[in-house]
Amino acid sequence: MGQNTREIVRKFNIRLTKSLGQNFLTDNNIVKKIVDCANIGADDLVIEVGPGVGSMTTELAQRAKKVVAIEIDKYLIPALNDNLKNFSNVQIVNKDIMKLNINEVTNGFESDNIKVVANLPYYITTPIIMKFLEEENEISLMVFMVQKEVGQRIIAKPGTKEYGALSVSIQYYSNPQIVFDVSPHCFFPQPEVDSTVIKLVINKNPPVELLDKNMFFKIVKCSFAQRRKTLLNSLFNTGDFGKTKDEIKQLLEKAGVDENARGETLSINQFANLANLFQQLK
Ligand code: SAM
Repeated sequence: MGQNTREIVRKFNIRLTKSLGQNFLTDNNIVKKIVDCANIGADDLVIEVGPGVGSMTTELAQRAKKVVAIEIDKYLIPALNDNLKNFSNVQIVNKDIMKLNINEVTNGFESDNIKVVANLPYYITTPIIMKFLEEENEISLMVFMVQKEVGQRIIAKPGTKEYGALSVSIQYYSNPQIVFDVSPHCFFPQPEVDSTVIKLVINKNPPVELLDKNMFFKIVKCSFAQRRKTLLNSLFNTGDFGKTKDEIKQLLEKAGVDENARGETLSINQFANLANLFQQLK
């Protein structure tokens, strides 16, 4: 294990930036528990988003073949380099994760050996997770610390108030599970929200067959945009599908969906049926 997070912050005179979501983990047991979830083996490549001063990076480096740690804040790089100086298998990259070409990093590793682990900056949780899921790459497992209520939305099932476009999108690409909750006391400084660790086991094959992925996500997004509206009204009101209300009614009927249903009651299968019918009759 590297040095204590607080000591490093003090030693390098680091000013933490709230807007970058800099709440560092100080509890080494939690760090170990998170890394345990990823089941890291000696052949694995781990991409870590936002290593901070490297509390989790040192633990990852002891278990993986290679760790690529992407940190946006250039002021943290000297501390990171110092904390990780004894590990030759760590590559620190000073970059915005949203600008990373994932395939360049994963080159040369087998899909089953590519993992992502991160205590995420909460201001950008969804874009980061969706980037890793949507870009064509070979990642097999992701373990993320997220805000607790985001974790609950990610695993939510149809008919619950947490179920939304985020649940459907993430469950299309992966099988998400909540592993354990983490109290604000385990961070420095303490965040104002509770946290939870989630594990996304990436689907080798999608759970539903889609004629067009874009149509599926367009329908999902539209169905949840106005949660109190019926599916029929939501799909018609956007005007995006170029269909009359009657045509949409018929498509819903054909897909076996009640026209008065709301988006939040539809399963991924039902969204897929509907999207395929819309695509066929485009
Ligand atoms: N991994 C460290 C830990 O657990 O103690 C720090 C986690 S902290 C919650 C989030 C980290 O992500 C910070 O170091 C922050 O600077 C970094 N970060 C924020 N936005 C980023 C981005 N767009 N790309 C890469 N890193 C980012």
